[in-house]
Amino acid sequence: MTKKLTIFLVFLIFLISGCATMPPREKIATYEINGTTYVSLVSLCERRQISWDYDTFAKTVVLQRGAHKINLRVGDTMALVDGRAEYLHHPVDIYQGVLVIPLRFKEQVIDYLFKPQYAQAKETPLILAIKKVVIDAGHGGHDPGAIGRSGLREKDVNLDIAKRLSKLLRDNGITVVMTRSSDIFVPLERRVDIANNAKADLFISIHSNANRVRSLSGLEIYYISPRINDSKRALLTAQDTKLDFDSSCFSHTSLNTKATLWDMIYTFNRGESIQLAGNICKTAGRNLDTRIIGVKGANFQVLKGTQMPAILIESGFLSNREEEKLLKNGYYRQQVAEAIEQGIKNYARTNFACGG
Ligand SMILES: [Zn+2]
Repeated sequence: MTKKLTIFLVFLIFLISGCATMPPREKIATYEINGTTYVSLVSLCERRQISWDYDTFAKTVVLQRGAHKINLRVGDTMALVDGRAEYLHHPVDIYQGVLVIPLRFKEQVIDYLFKPQYAQAKETPLILAIKKVVIDAGHGGHDPGAIGRSGLREKDVNLDIAKRLSKLLRDNGITVVMTRSSDIFVPLERRVDIANNAKADLFISIHSNANRVRSLSGLEIYYISPRINDSKRALLTAQDTKLDFDSSCFSHTSLNTKATLWDMIYTFNRGESIQLAGNICKTAGRNLDTRIIGVKGANFQVLKGTQMPAILIESGFLSNREEEKLLKNGYYRQQVAEAIEQGIKNYARTNFACGG
């Protein structure tokens, strides 16, 4: 989050110093509510061609155009802007049946992120791409993970794919942090800590599957299950001072506010994880000669604890004779790593890369 917040601060300085060209004022209905000026969110979205989605049950709003996304919640003074937390000063509201946001938020964030389309061509990239990835090779040391019929050990397959993926990402200028780079045992909590301390953009855990049903085969990718209670997880995180927000704006906020923020971040991260997993499944389907089972939610400890979009890839079934043969082959493991790398790049392109 530090990096994204830094980018935001840089653009705030630009705004304050008047370097950014502000679009001319548009005629959008304003409302005075308790001394604060609000604007109609729907009118604004229509004028700017911003797609918006309101969930009446959760009272959440998602605004999206191109690479940018804003998550808001009625009654909350917090927003997620491209995944980073922003403070609105006044809450998003519903006034006389109209969904409204503070004018100040429109001017300071929306006007910058979603400029009128005629100014689009001059837009400078705000967030370029994925900069840091944590790669987690599952098992290791005294924990071999699954063992195939020929004796192929999951921990070795995982580490080899992880190393190959690490090289590919580093060749793309991405910083890689490995939770282990040799045959050692690393407890799950330690893996989570490594990822959170690194403040990585993505967490990729690599495993290989096994099942009693030996005919089962294929690659599948997991994200943290929607059945996991985000608000409960958020409260625990908010109580953990180790995981406090870096920005001084949040240092004096109440526990409740912090919990709300973490709740939004967790929900946001789940959505991003699903998109990332989907992109990897697509490239894997094209590159690999194996069945693609798909994307599923699960309650894995490493996915539950990590503070960034996180996925766990089961690269194939060691319990399946054919797939064990494939996973034994270095060329195939390279193909798996390449499929993951390309999936990450496609995800970054569609979710972060800006046009131009
Ligand atoms: Zn495993």
